[in-house]
Amino acid sequence: MKKVVKFGGSSLADSKQFEKVKNIILADDSRVYVVPSAPGKRNNNDIKITDLLYKCYELAKEGKNFSDSFSIIQERYNEIIRGLNLSLDLGEEFSKIEVKLLNEPEKDYTASRGEYLNGLIMANYLGFEFIDPSEVIFFDNSGNFEPDKTDSALSARLEKTSHAVIPGFYGISESGRITTFSRGGSDITGSIVARACRAAVYENWTDVSGLLMADPKIVNNPAVMKNITYRELRELSYMGASVMHEDAIFPVKKAGIPINIRNTNKPEDGGTWIVANTARRSKFMITGIAGRKDFCSIIIAKDLMHSQSDFYRKVVQCFEENNIPPEHLPSGIDTMTVIVQESKFIEHEQEVLRRIAKFVEPDSLEVESGIALIAVVGRSMKAQTGTAAKIFQALAEERINVRMIDQGASELNIIVGVLNEDFERAIRAIYSKFVN
Ligand code: ASP
Repeated sequence: MKKVVKFGGSSLADSKQFEKVKNIILADDSRVYVVPSAPGKRNNNDIKITDLLYKCYELAKEGKNFSDSFSIIQERYNEIIRGLNLSLDLGEEFSKIEVKLLNEPEKDYTASRGEYLNGLIMANYLGFEFIDPSEVIFFDNSGNFEPDKTDSALSARLEKTSHAVIPGFYGISESGRITTFSRGGSDITGSIVARACRAAVYENWTDVSGLLMADPKIVNNPAVMKNITYRELRELSYMGASVMHEDAIFPVKKAGIPINIRNTNKPEDGGTWIVANTARRSKFMITGIAGRKDFCSIIIAKDLMHSQSDFYRKVVQCFEENNIPPEHLPSGIDTMTVIVQESKFIEHEQEVLRRIAKFVEPDSLEVESGIALIAVVGRSMKAQTGTAAKIFQALAEERINVRMIDQGASELNIIVGVLNEDFERAIRAIYSKFVN
């Protein structure tokens, strides 16, 4: 059995964190492939190495002096090396990066060096082989990841090595340029490595003991979700829950590999299991709550709308023409509402409204802004009664007016719309109703 372990920036911020990471790896023989991020923040005032590297690039690009930030970067790595008593010298590596910055600064190349250097230290510290992602992780020349080409090269490469460190965040394009994923992309690398070696588990080690049922900035000390399905996670992260990089789910999902989110500072905690399917019920009827503010609703009324089979299509087309994806379409007999993100709608609003007026000749057309959507997500919902009742009771008791309700046919979530100003209060009310 093989496990892939990915460690985030805060798990590798200094030599003390490296020691914790080594202990975690040595505690389980099956933890054979390690994917490190670049060193993150050691405290709230600290700067992530990746951010310092981007800063060096910005300065270098304009021909300005970047040596202050570059020295801080070198010192951070040297401190880790000293703290771990390694006889490793990154001097030549630093020079190569500096020369490149001076002569032909490249954004992705520069940013990727955070993971690259951390990978070199980690491989040396663990005595594992170092695999440079530029040999096994591929992008096309437009920066799109190439999953199949990568999977065959990477799995063939991993077959030749029992223990390896593969830095996160980057790979190489067809034309040979270092290319990164978007920010937070080491999560994706971990998932790709897990798929390539057909791992039993993809462990994603971070600084919290798993995914939380609600945003801790809104709910005080929310409970950890012990088990969640990929689909539930998609719903929650789409609605704003900050978890792993969104794209990290796809490679392991495809291969049916579970993800286990763990806490480097509390390895004894079981964390969260993200799986394709599970018979385990969530402890509290619902799995989690997430939400986002700043949606608009466009309310269209027209007598006998329902007898026109193309009415919906025509309305949706007015949004499509302006590249605005409708989020929800709650409807009545002679009304339909289109919910969209305010930021996407506002720029084209007059054009959309003009098109709707012309295309379907509504009796009335209204726009309302400042709507927040809250998704209450739970795979157990469809097998039990009373979930919706509890949500609306919680909101009614708090005297929060519900502006919209949407329950998908899959019964995986119930979405309620409230005014922006009621958003936090609504989440707290729903959370307490189910958890406390
Ligand atoms: N170091 C990169 C970032 O800060 C990638 C990662 O940590 O996942 O975005």
